[in-house]
Amino acid sequence: MRNVQKITIGIVIVTLVILVWYHFRANTKTYTVTPDKFSFTNIDDSSKGGLSSSAINFKDGKVYLTCEVVKDSNYPWPYCELEISLSDSIFQGIDFSEYNKISLDIDYTTTHANKRLRVYIRNSHPAYTRADERTSLKFNGIEYPPGFGDGAKAITLDTFQVLTWWIADNNVDLEHASSDFSNVPIIEIATASGVTEGSFEIIINSIEFQGVWIEESTLLKGLLYTWLLLIIGFILYEQSKLYRRLKKSHQRAGRLFKLNQNLTETNVKFSALANRDPLTGALNRNAVQDWLKKMAQEVRWGNQDFSALFIDIDYFKNVNDEYGHQVGDDILREFVLVISTNIRNNDFLVRWGGEEFIVFFPETNNEQAMNKAETLRHIIELHEWCHHKSLTCSIGVAQMGQERITEMIARADEALYKAKGSGRNKVVCSLPPLK
Ligand code: GH3
Ligand code: MG
Ligand code: MG
Repeated sequence: MRNVQKITIGIVIVTLVILVWYHFRANTKTYTVTPDKFSFTNIDDSSKGGLSSSAINFKDGKVYLTCEVVKDSNYPWPYCELEISLSDSIFQGIDFSEYNKISLDIDYTTTHANKRLRVYIRNSHPAYTRADERTSLKFNGIEYPPGFGDGAKAITLDTFQVLTWWIADNNVDLEHASSDFSNVPIIEIATASGVTEGSFEIIINSIEFQGVWIEESTLLKGLLYTWLLLIIGFILYEQSKLYRRLKKSHQRAGRLFKLNQNLTETNVKFSALANRDPLTGALNRNAVQDWLKKMAQEVRWGNQDFSALFIDIDYFKNVNDEYGHQVGDDILREFVLVISTNIRNNDFLVRWGGEEFIVFFPETNNEQAMNKAETLRHIIELHEWCHHKSLTCSIGVAQMGQERITEMIARADEALYKAKGSGRNKVVCSLPPLK
């Protein structure tokens, strides 16, 4: 944004500078035609058999041409003129096509009634200019009254017209019939065409071609296009910035979404791990802690019966010793599967220790718990285990009374101990608490 501001301020300044520059005419270019740069000579009809005479003088940068035009039957168009030669060759002139005016400061005195002067800007072009013929240079001409002491007069070059007799005499094509200032070797200032006789003095104070470096319309068009380009550039820049920002935020949102997903997955995994025993997939003590507290309360308030079976696999050490720890693990997993598939959905199987499990039965009294324990014991006994040997378990049963959970579990453990003591593969019920 800062860059765009800088560019805008820069272009505003450049625009202002250009407009000020244009306003104070610094745009104008000039080309002065002076006697110290070019040769000024006098010509009259005496060279063509007439009787007129002329003289040229130079003083303080000014050119003075005096002449006596004399009427004579030998030459019907007497005249005198000033010829300014801009180059040594009539084929190689100066290009004035980039100028649009000629400013002439001429003081003219004459005894003749016609106070006008002819001005010819002669142009050379291979299409019509011939080496041996000075008249083959195009006549871009005007006639005007310069006056005396009137100062400079600026005449637009558009005013100059190509003389029709020159077009006809030189058989000039249409494409070359209009005025042209692109290759000017000679400028002529002569007495008017209607002059027959008299005294004349032409004082050339200055001759200056004037033009502009840049046309006003071109300049304004240039400024307009520059501003348009700037505005379009700015809009495109803003659009692409917006697009990039949008893309970035999309990418960021995508990354966050993925991260979030990963975190959720990890969370789920962690929470599952926190509640499950990694070996068997059975719940751990932690998983049922809150639930047990709630159940204890239920029992305390007399809302429901609640029982637990403490199950321990018989002679499990022997299995490990005989088949290895790996098979021992497999049997533990199988044991969990068998118990899980034979209890209700709202009963909970918890791996309490190595090969000791507790199954909690809500809404189950002592007697019902005993039946469930017997069923489970029987199922375990009959199950075909992965090591193709039979396996039994002992179960201690306890229904919760007005006691703490730990007390009920301790009673179940005690009952289990008794079951072990009475030969294993047994179910023993704990006596209700003495309260
Ligand atoms: P009993 O209960 O009938 O008195 O005899 P037991 O051989 O099962 O003895 P006890 O319950 O005291 O021993 C438990 C054995 O269970 C000890 C250990 O080798 C095995 N055990 C405990 N946790 C794991 C386990 O995660 N994997 C395997 N493979 N064995 C385990
Ligand atoms: Mg044990
Ligand atoms: Mg055991």
